[in-house]
Amino acid sequence: LVEHADAAVTDPQQPDEPTTGTPSDGRSNAEVGADDASVVFHSWSKQGGLKPLPLAGGRGTEVWDHDGNHYLDFSTQLVFTNMGHQHPKIIAGITEQLNTLATVAPAHGNATRAEAARLILKRAPEGFEKVFFTAGGADANENAIRMARLVTGRDKVLSRYRSYHGNTGAAIVATGDWRRIPNEYATGHVHFFGPFLYRSEFWASSPEEECARALHHLERTVQAEGPESIAAVLLESVPGTAGIMVPPPGYLSGVRAICDRYGITLILDEVMAGFGRTGEWFAFDAHDVRPDLITFAKGVNSGYVPVGGVIISSEIAHAFDDRVFPGGLTYSGHPLAAGSIVATQRAMAEEGAVENAKRIGADVLGPGLAELGAKHDVIGEVRGTGVFWALELVADRETREPLPATTVARLKSDIIGRGLLPFATDNRIHVVPPINVSDDEVARALAIYDEAFTAFRP
Ligand code: PLP
Repeated sequence: LVEHADAAVTDPQQPDEPTTGTPSDGRSNAEVGADDASVVFHSWSKQGGLKPLPLAGGRGTEVWDHDGNHYLDFSTQLVFTNMGHQHPKIIAGITEQLNTLATVAPAHGNATRAEAARLILKRAPEGFEKVFFTAGGADANENAIRMARLVTGRDKVLSRYRSYHGNTGAAIVATGDWRRIPNEYATGHVHFFGPFLYRSEFWASSPEEECARALHHLERTVQAEGPESIAAVLLESVPGTAGIMVPPPGYLSGVRAICDRYGITLILDEVMAGFGRTGEWFAFDAHDVRPDLITFAKGVNSGYVPVGGVIISSEIAHAFDDRVFPGGLTYSGHPLAAGSIVATQRAMAEEGAVENAKRIGADVLGPGLAELGAKHDVIGEVRGTGVFWALELVADRETREPLPATTVARLKSDIIGRGLLPFATDNRIHVVPPINVSDDEVARALAIYDEAFTAFRP
């Protein structure tokens, strides 16, 4: 696999650029969309009146539909195609594994899986020793929670309001945004408010004040709940779908100190923020903090094959030397996922993709979005880092009243019509291109957003 990872780059069957935008089977968007909606039960959707935009192909930052329209993919789907679509090295890595051993049960040793784990551990801080592979981000959090509970002998998990941790038993209950299904299945979950200065819960007027008050609130929550009952604090290093809220300096290290004071496991969820999204390998790298468990998915392999996992500190890993860890699914550590991870991790390093995300965020995308924010009143705040940005849309800049969801939906369709796939949620547009996006693509995208905001009437 390692030797062959570059094969597709010179393979004449793999064009570097899309050669066609026409549908392969001659059907239109309307036909494929209707066909899909007639038999596929869609996630997170009302099933009546579904009109999914069918995508026929993609390359890099671009995708195209069955009517031949091209789009810049600034959603990276659900913020996972970090290295863009159809990256030849990732396709080659998967193909190589497919032709070698397409599948194998988790209990067998597997060279590709071991290499995937080693490449992931290379990016973790000192003292991390093992990787537990899962099928995605939600079950990564399930398993991290289970590890923390088994190791501490405690039950409760504290997580933030305004967070998303996945749509399975404990992960959805740990989630703190509108998707939470309160007390479905899991017990022992407690929520607290994290720092978010623009809509401060603490009446703070500076990042320092917000940070200090948010830490005080967390510590008081720990004390009120009873530290001896708390297994873990679970946090997205940078909360993603709930609003891309980069924590103020000192917050994550302050949480670490609270966890240390009370013997609590710190789980950092890097499912969305990890592997380059923030311009760092892990988002917490910018925050001087060392968690006990790190969960990942999405960017680790650009989502080409479903996979996720938990990166485990030596201390927690060795707690299971003489006791069974009761976790795992049939497809945990699937070799095709492992092949995609090896190829993605190598491509990211070879192509300097994480460095690209950092540079483009600081020099091109961040300043460009700030200009849009200054120009268009509907943008209440621009915030983010790397290629992880939120435009907070407001009906009124003074009161910060959120723009209604129906208006955001209208704006979203307009942007799509102008040739860009945006990520829109609640009253926000998240600007989340691939980490290897080019300066030219960012310039084209900024022009499209600008045109759309200029034409926008609330
Ligand atoms: N954690 C975070 C921070 C996420 O953003 C997501 C998905 O968006 C998840 C967990 C769940 O991952 P998955 O959908 O792969 O289960």
